Amino acid sequence: MSEPSDDHDTAETRLARLILALRSQGVTEPGVLNAIETTPRDIFVPDLFQERSWEDSALPIACGQTISQPFIVGLMTQALTIEPRARVLEIGTGSGYQTTILAKLSRLVYTVERYRTLLREAESRFQQLGLVNVITRFGDGGEGWPEQAPFDRILVTAAAPEEPKALLSQLKPNGVLVAPIGKGPVQSLRRYAGDGKGGFKVELLGDVRFVPLLDGVAREL
Ligand code: SAH
Repeated sequence: MSEPSDDHDTAETRLARLILALRSQGVTEPGVLNAIETTPRDIFVPDLFQERSWEDSALPIACGQTISQPFIVGLMTQALTIEPRARVLEIGTGSGYQTTILAKLSRLVYTVERYRTLLREAESRFQQLGLVNVITRFGDGGEGWPEQAPFDRILVTAAAPEEPKALLSQLKPNGVLVAPIGKGPVQSLRRYAGDGKGGFKVELLGDVRFVPLLDGVAREL
């Protein structure tokens, strides 16, 4: 009999292993784990990296961007403390993987991306998954989505060079914003919780590596 190896494991086994890994690293919220468990990450991963869909690592996607590491998706989603009636703004749609997890936990997700190609691909995945509560926008997410503000929750999935003031101003008084903040290759993941009086309690959640939040929309497709 041969030894069990990664190569022969089914997607189901790999997924179960991923969920265990997330749990052991502190992602314990059942709703968050369930959303990750029921989201087929392979449909968000390019053909070249299919085999690695269930690894707990970030992977390259089109336009020089990345699909986030599942642990970081879990950590950020858990930190958002989403309630089922929440309207959530996400900056940086990318593959749409994080968007899908948010959509399973909230009422409506508004997501903004600066690459048309990525946004189109993500939209077709939302359709394929039958998600009806995701609203997309091609634009510069640094400006937020003023017409739809204020939001209960805001998640930034690209590194903001400094405190994202425009986005914080689009948060409800008791809202929560989670974002990687920093100019270098390693940023600090911060959680801003509104105190109801216009101020924020800021918590540091650890070091992360995200692609930068860039100004304006991409000129390439
Ligand atoms: N949440 C994504 C991660 C994508 S990486 C996923 O799960 O796949 C970050 C994304 O932010 C990239 O697609 C990048 O193009 C986008 N981005 C960077 N700056 C932006 C901006 N100013 N407005 C909107 N999107 C931006």
